[in-house]
Amino acid sequence: MRKKLVVASGNAHKLKEIAQIFTEYEIVSQKDAGFDVEVEETGSTFTENALIKARAASKALGVLALADDSGLCVEALGGAPGVYSARYCGWHADDKSNRDLLLKNLKDEKNRTAYFESAMALVYPDGKEIVGHGRTYGKILFEEVGENGFGYDCLFFSDDLQKTFAVASAEEKNSVSHRYRALCDLKSKAGKIE
Ligand code: IMP
Repeated sequence: MRKKLVVASGNAHKLKEIAQIFTEYEIVSQKDAGFDVEVEETGSTFTENALIKARAASKALGVLALADDSGLCVEALGGAPGVYSARYCGWHADDKSNRDLLLKNLKDEKNRTAYFESAMALVYPDGKEIVGHGRTYGKILFEEVGENGFGYDCLFFSDDLQKTFAVASAEEKNSVSHRYRALCDLKSKAGKIE
């Protein structure tokens, strides 16, 4: 039987990707584990926010908890939207309004270089903490291409895959994604996670 691993996220897309990458564990959302709280992300870095979320779930449930904090960093925008990726367009933002604002802000910009970044925090009930980091590079297109994925996927042309993350299959995205790389980094630092 696979060991259960609680993931401190309510984002169904992220949970699905983490489950597809971390197949040796049964991934359980914090809500399904009994902690149905949206923890405020008050940190100024991906690492701080991932730790805030994982600590809250681990403390409330008394279990090992994993959290991802991630976002898109665009060179010509000085790294924005960065940690504000989910709410780039304001507190009531959704994926579409965020993408529209990104295209508007990059309207006449020639430098389209960008990367996705993920910090994966693992917090143990005894307080031990380990963080893995991952990045994946690409370019922001001038229009949306593809239907798969979520968030900024249809605007992100991956350098590795030579297509957008929204054209790529889940397997292709998961083989080069920031989350995959952060989980690999985390596993190499944590050894066996239990
Ligand atoms: P978080 O829940 O604060 O980590 O927000 C992450 C946000 O970054 C998401 O809502 C998306 O807008 C964006 N993001 C992170 N990872 C991805 C990805 O793999 N594809 C597309 N957008 C992503």
